[in-house]
Amino acid sequence: MSLPYTHLPQHWDVLIAGGGTAGAVAGIAAARAGARVLVLEAQGSLGGSGTNAWVTPLMRNVSAGQNLNRGLTDELKARLLERGDGARDGNGNDNWFNPEGLKYVLERLLIESGGEVLYHTSVVAPVLDGERIGSLVVHNKGGLQALGADVFIDATGDADVAAAAGVPFHAGDEDGLHQAMSLRFSLAGVDLETLCTFLSANGQWQESPRFMHFWMVWGKKSSLEPLFKQAVAQGILEERDGDYFQAFSVPGRPNELSFNCPRIRADLNDGTDPWHLSGAQTDGRESIERLIRFCKTYLPGCQDAYLGSYAPMVGVRETRRIVGDYTLTLNDILDCRKFGDSICKNHYPVDIHSVKGGAKLLHEREGTAPYFAPDAYHELPYRCIVPQGISNLLVPGRSASSTFEAQSSIRVQQNCHSMGEAAGVAAAWAAREYGGEVRRVGGAALREKLRALGANV
Ligand SMILES: Cc1cc2nc3c(=O)[nH]c(=O)nc-3n(C[C@H](O)[C@H](O)[C@H](O)COP(=O)(O)OP(=O)(O)OC[C@H]3O[C@@H](n4cnc5c(N)ncnc54)[C@H](O)[C@@H]3O)c2cc1C
Repeated sequence: MSLPYTHLPQHWDVLIAGGGTAGAVAGIAAARAGARVLVLEAQGSLGGSGTNAWVTPLMRNVSAGQNLNRGLTDELKARLLERGDGARDGNGNDNWFNPEGLKYVLERLLIESGGEVLYHTSVVAPVLDGERIGSLVVHNKGGLQALGADVFIDATGDADVAAAAGVPFHAGDEDGLHQAMSLRFSLAGVDLETLCTFLSANGQWQESPRFMHFWMVWGKKSSLEPLFKQAVAQGILEERDGDYFQAFSVPGRPNELSFNCPRIRADLNDGTDPWHLSGAQTDGRESIERLIRFCKTYLPGCQDAYLGSYAPMVGVRETRRIVGDYTLTLNDILDCRKFGDSICKNHYPVDIHSVKGGAKLLHEREGTAPYFAPDAYHELPYRCIVPQGISNLLVPGRSASSTFEAQSSIRVQQNCHSMGEAAGVAAAWAAREYGGEVRRVGGAALREKLRALGANV
């Protein structure tokens, strides 16, 4: 890199680029394993998509009635529950959480574990020494600075570090198109009691105002479709607003709903393109205006509602996927493939929010593949987070090595926690015993270590 930067004198065992869903958990796990850890985060809080893109609740990842992710995921849930920022519904589903509470919980856990975080810091590029990364050049209010470490974790969600280090990657589907982005928002001032009664009486049963989930997608037999049609006819909504509409209640926020929409315009689908990201903010806010007007006009209980907040980050579902030592495929998912170096169990469906229209959900289809058995799950090997070409880097999270279809299944938050936990433990281990070489961490031994820490692997 030709621009001048200052080399900081400190040296870390593990540097983590991105303190999001996987990165924050990786930081906690590495610090607990005894490593000197620094998390570099572009935003002013931890949690990434789960906090700053307001992605709530955690999607269920269940087999034979049991949640498949344990370990640090359980600890996060327990802390959230304790604070009133998490909740368990009547079905035993404990995935409900308040994104603002999660910011605090992650930060406390990292600091209590002895880890450090540097906010408002963007990782710009790695400095390479052959097949090793020596340091990361970052940009923050201190200008351009280089920070050195033995092991690096790229948890940017976009494989920013890996891509700049020359790791091969894939991006998008067979046409290079990514899954749709969304700008999530919250609606405050809602009379949830009234809305809950209305929905329950009109085809979308709700457990209670505390645990609400309602939706509309064109052609999927949602009870709200007639209202959407009217709103489109009246000019309140655009046709595309019905491509995906979904809302949830949020623990600790009694009059508020979190919306998993609007979907961003199809031509703005690349979360690594700054122009697409910026356009997504503008397009998203315009769509939110329409959705709020729709809610206030058509949904009882929403007459006095107002915008609670726009999520600070655009929700990005898929960008770069590294080529690692193993690439997970759709067949691995359908065949429920197991691996000796497993770091995560998954049974979340293939869930593609395609910009070509509609949503593709594998669990809506029946079949004879092992995937469709009630106790089915597949495993994700450590090799999926070990990138080709670099010896001291791990890449957990949504950019782990997988095909477009497989990524749409493994990307959900609880799996990113599990990948992050494994990456943190492995990175600390590699720094302590193997001069930073992550391939020297035996996958089977890592699995044993994770089991001892409470992970379900
Ligand atoms: C709209 C939407 C809805 C979803 N719905 C659900 C759902 O309901 N439930 C569920 O479980 N999952 C859901 N998902 C999937 C899930 O939220 C994500 O796949 C997952 O959170 C990604 O985790 P990650 O750690 O890979 O990335 P992130 O959590 O996005 O973390 C990346 C972090 O890196 C930081 N960063 C990025 N680049 C840099 C850089 N260069 N320098 C420094 N920091 C950087 C970012 O600020 C961020 O904090 C959804 C995703 C989206 C987008």
